[in-house]
Amino acid sequence: MNRLNNEIDTQSEMTSMYDEFNIEVPENAFPRHGLSARAASALVASDEWTDTNPMLNMSSFVTTFAEPEAVETGRRNMFKNYIDHDMYPQLFAMERRMVRWLHELWNGPKDVEPYGAATIGSSEACMLAGLAHKWNWRRNREKSGKDASHPNMVTGGNVQIVWKKFLRYFDVEPRIVPLKPGNYRLTAEHLDQYVDENTIAVVAIAGQTFTGEDDDIQAIHDWLDAYEKKTGVSIPMHIDGASGGFVNPFLYPDYEWDFRLPRVQSINASGHKFGLTPPGLGWVVFRERKVFNEELIFYVNYLGGEMPTATLNFSRNAAPVAVQYYQFLRLGFDGYKRVMTHTLANAVALREALVQSGYFRIMNETQRIPVVAVTLDPRITRFNEFDVSNKVREKGWVLSAYSMPADAEEVRSLRVVVRPHINHNVAMNLARDIIAACRYLEEHGGTATAPKLHAQPHKLSPAKC
Ligand SMILES: *Cc1c(COP(=O)(O)O)cnc(C)c1O
Repeated sequence: MNRLNNEIDTQSEMTSMYDEFNIEVPENAFPRHGLSARAASALVASDEWTDTNPMLNMSSFVTTFAEPEAVETGRRNMFKNYIDHDMYPQLFAMERRMVRWLHELWNGPKDVEPYGAATIGSSEACMLAGLAHKWNWRRNREKSGKDASHPNMVTGGNVQIVWKKFLRYFDVEPRIVPLKPGNYRLTAEHLDQYVDENTIAVVAIAGQTFTGEDDDIQAIHDWLDAYEKKTGVSIPMHIDGASGGFVNPFLYPDYEWDFRLPRVQSINASGHKFGLTPPGLGWVVFRERKVFNEELIFYVNYLGGEMPTATLNFSRNAAPVAVQYYQFLRLGFDGYKRVMTHTLANAVALREALVQSGYFRIMNETQRIPVVAVTLDPRITRFNEFDVSNKVREKGWVLSAYSMPADAEEVRSLRVVVRPHINHNVAMNLARDIIAACRYLEEHGGTATAPKLHAQPHKLSPAKC
């Protein structure tokens, strides 16, 4: 075996790819000598062989399919640094245009200046929105001579990990309303115990990662209206529409989850989820420019003319921005509506097949995005959700099983994100394989006879997305 650290004569006529590629990759030292492009590429590919085929990753929300023209658009842009607006003013113009389109899609008021940004993903978008609300809250508190040292934010226990990061990284007290078995979304029910004058915002989710449901956005909004009447304290809402932002407008045009609700001051969405671009692209859009505190904007002239910057990242790949623009033009409202309609229909067909098998019960009665979350019928004791997940892995499917967040940890769930490339045929193949796995496990037993797991390593898996 050749070692990458040993010289091999790659010029020799006798050296083939078999020799070059059969090397031991150093774990802890930088490779000493290079390889031919073919060998390097084959070596990288061989490391990838046992990784999941992204098409079969049913746990992920992230886009894995695009038309060749979208891929070509991405390729053309992959060596452009998006932040260099002086060099690529037209890319910047596309981003500005898309922010205005999203502001309109999400029913922003017409008589204002929309503001927003393309980000690396929803995580960066959420952080920017959280910062804007923290700054606005502090400014208001200071203006009225009140203490501004104890900001808090209210969310449900179903939030994606980004919000816990935001709260810790930016020193905002978490006020997380726990879930309970049977209710996995934030409602207005216990807000009185969590909201106060130091609440910078209430975050409600449109299309949560665990069950695909929306938080009770309207009820939360109404509760905050009543709270303001009672106390004079006005608290804004942020909608985490990482998934729902590209589903609700097309499937549920009459459903008011967005800027139609006056308290909704900011919305984020992931372009790389149902926005149908490859990773990484997110969006944050504010109700109007003044919500994004001017103090958060820097003006720099490193790259030529003076340019505003207000994202957490500076350099970023331009390709996802260009691909998003391609997708918006290519599909238009009608196209997204058709794609989301068939995707939801496939999710419903998959869910029905699973429920009809008798093994499963659905968890997400109020589901809006195409996510199927099921739990095994409580009468099934010979195997559990983790066994099903492991068994279907034999067929190549990656399906996450996990325990729900506090206080519903005893509930285990199996979740499938039905993405647009999962056509009806594939959804039915998956249903068949899941049901066959259950039959096998019923006969042979799984690990469920072992003590009930509160399997720590699985706990956060859905939040990875
Ligand atoms: C995926 C997701 C995020 C994080 O988004 P990224 O685009 O992965 O950074 C945040 N919130 C929700 C509800 C999500 O589904």
